[in-house]
Amino acid sequence: MSGGDSGYEVFWKEAVHQIGEKISEQEFLMWFRNMDYLNSGDSNILVAVPSSFYKDQVTQRYLPSLESTLFELSGQKLQVTFKVQKTSAQIESETKNEKAKKIDKASSKKKKRPHSQLKQEYNFERFVRGDNNDFAYMASYAIAKNPGKAYNPCMIYGGVGLGKTHLLQAIGNLSYQEFDNLKISYVTAETFTNEFILSIKENTIHRFKNKYRSVDMLLIDDVHFLPGKVETQEELFHTFNALYDANKQMVFTSDRPVSELKKLSDRLRSRFERGLNVDLQPPNYETRIAILKKKVEEKNVEIPDAVIELICQNIKTNVRDLEKALTKLIAYAELVNRTISLEIAERQLKDFFTENDYRNVTIDLIQRTVAEYFALSPNDLKGKRRSKAIAFPRQVAMYIVRNLTEYSTTEVGLEFGGRDHTTVMHACQRIEDRMKTDATLSPTIQYLIRSIKDYRP
Ligand code: ADP
Ligand code: MG
Repeated sequence: MSGGDSGYEVFWKEAVHQIGEKISEQEFLMWFRNMDYLNSGDSNILVAVPSSFYKDQVTQRYLPSLESTLFELSGQKLQVTFKVQKTSAQIESETKNEKAKKIDKASSKKKKRPHSQLKQEYNFERFVRGDNNDFAYMASYAIAKNPGKAYNPCMIYGGVGLGKTHLLQAIGNLSYQEFDNLKISYVTAETFTNEFILSIKENTIHRFKNKYRSVDMLLIDDVHFLPGKVETQEELFHTFNALYDANKQMVFTSDRPVSELKKLSDRLRSRFERGLNVDLQPPNYETRIAILKKKVEEKNVEIPDAVIELICQNIKTNVRDLEKALTKLIAYAELVNRTISLEIAERQLKDFFTENDYRNVTIDLIQRTVAEYFALSPNDLKGKRRSKAIAFPRQVAMYIVRNLTEYSTTEVGLEFGGRDHTTVMHACQRIEDRMKTDATLSPTIQYLIRSIKDYRP
């Protein structure tokens, strides 16, 4: 207390306390925790508040009752004056923030800001190794540590949901942390294609070429999207050569071996085949268990081993489906606020397990089933004719393929007489729209889907 203080602090405190009894705790904390008694004169009390807004608010809300309480307590008319200045609560919270910031800085000293095109979760630590993927893992790791030196280019191939994107981005993430000035670009083949087309349209092709030919590491995901795209392939071929000659690292992924990519120019194919080709196989039971346990740990949930085993016994296809089953269970458990038991898991995932059990559904089977239903031949669906009698069944077949299989629109187009992927997208949209207005269509499609799923050769 400074000199000349009339010592009204006790009255002030008691007045605040009494007001606190009349209002909610929240309200009290909101307005009174942030006030500091400063000093008092003969007939006034000076109180610090953090802002003018605050000053106006407390003046309006509490000044009259504060002054009348003070009057009752001291028997004197005491005037309260609010002064805007830093309060102790403010100073305290600021130092706390500073400390937190410092700790943050210290712990992230080595880490850079995340790369804008890469997901941070896709790193090597989170990738579970097994016989099915170990070679691909080691090759990817070596590439990330020695870009442009060890294996250039590299093609990682394997079915959907087996970790291609994860490994590809893990390479980018690790190299990005390890090397300060490495320019890394990650792009899907689809985006690459779209950017290329746009650059032609907008007359910015030079910028496009520059962008991809000036990187130190080029990561292109899902090159099975490229078949049939002649100009894009041409452009990628030249990009490849420029980067290759400059010893810049390139890594590609594809859902099948290069030799099985149809409609790929020979020279691009030979470029893809030039480097290291590694494959990802579906994980075996032990690896599936290890992967799922890791995901459970990352999500920080309690799941009995029996449930993990149940999922791994039933889902054999790929890691993405394992994750989906887990996510579904967790969502359910959170919704009904219960822990996950084996019974719950069995019940909740029953449909999911059967739903996933149509790996032998092929485009061919779908075409045959749909053709038969509409009294056509499968060749009609694959052919060029556009008569209504054929166009509609063809759209139905495309729609079912997209719903039952993992083929991309590009691939579906190829299987239906070399049609463009936009035609496939359009067909699916047409069917969806039509189902809204035509009540008989949905049951028809459900019937077809059931016969396709139930098909036993
Ligand atoms: P793809 O690109 O081959 O279709 P992704 O890389 O997208 O597959 O993988 C699908 C999901 O499965 C991702 O969430 C990924 O993190 C996860 N995943 C795949 N393989 C593994 C693995 N070996 N360990 C941990 N997670 C994996
Ligand atoms: Mg992928």
